[in-house]
Amino acid sequence: MFDSLSDRLGSVFDRLRGRGALSEQDVRDAMREVRVALLEADVALPVARRFIDAVTEKAIGQDVLRSVTPGQQVVKIVNDELVDMLGGVETPSLNLEARPPVVIMMVGLQGSGKTTTTAKLGKLLKEKHGKKALMASLDVNRPAAQEQLAILGTQVEVATLPIVQGQQPVDIARRAMESAKLQNVDVLLLDTAGRLHVDEALMAEMKAVAGVSAPTEVLLVVDSLTGQDAVNVAQSFSGEVPLTGVILTRMDGDARGGAALSMRHVTGKPIKFAGTGEKLDAIEVFDPKRVAGRILG
Ligand code: GDP
Repeated sequence: MFDSLSDRLGSVFDRLRGRGALSEQDVRDAMREVRVALLEADVALPVARRFIDAVTEKAIGQDVLRSVTPGQQVVKIVNDELVDMLGGVETPSLNLEARPPVVIMMVGLQGSGKTTTTAKLGKLLKEKHGKKALMASLDVNRPAAQEQLAILGTQVEVATLPIVQGQQPVDIARRAMESAKLQNVDVLLLDTAGRLHVDEALMAEMKAVAGVSAPTEVLLVVDSLTGQDAVNVAQSFSGEVPLTGVILTRMDGDARGGAALSMRHVTGKPIKFAGTGEKLDAIEVFDPKRVAGRILG
């Protein structure tokens, strides 16, 4: 994760730290290199530009250059801006305070990792939060999608809604709500249908499902390996359904990190979790401070 960016920034900052005094030009030169490193990591151009401007202004505008350890101070400013770029100092969390059953609606394109992530969240809610969860697949498009969730449910020992063939997504959502209430379920996870592309039919279905289930969280699952496409998908969804956050999957294979670094600024939505592998416990809370620390080594 972020390997090449981390290497590139490491060498720029080693050079800055190695100097006793820094001139304005030294800072500008270093920031030019940082800008290239960000763009090579597939960060969206406006995000990279804003980052560089913010760091440059703070590094040159304050008493940084006259301080005893100017290189160290510049690196600190970069760290703070990175945290901001990744979502801010607050660690994101799920809103589970509503009256049960709290509904978490999972949305995303086909193949993004939505069903796997639903099962990962079910497991996490049960094991880390002590919640009684129920999972329901509303995916009537992809053959065997509902069975896939049932199998994963057995693996993570979280209940799934029994499958009734021929039911439409909105009806499944209603049945899931009733079942969750009857069984005193704390959290209901709705795994909605994916599509290959964002289209009107998909959005209409998402809105209808949200209409009958009143979700507290609407989490978009996107594949980090698709880079800026992931950010574009998030933008399209957030214009249509009230997203409360993003889950980036396949962070384990993403050496560049552009989606993670651009998501917040481009979409305004926090990344709440990162998928870090195929195993059902491979999910991490996305903590901007820790991720920034990992990038800066
Ligand atoms: P869906 O079509 O969006 O429901 O996608 P699936 O949940 O079926 O996932 C598609 C594939 O991606 C499966 O083989 C998953 O094991 C894999 N996958 C999901 N999340 C991750 C992740 O975070 N890391 C890795 N390496 N693979 C993942």
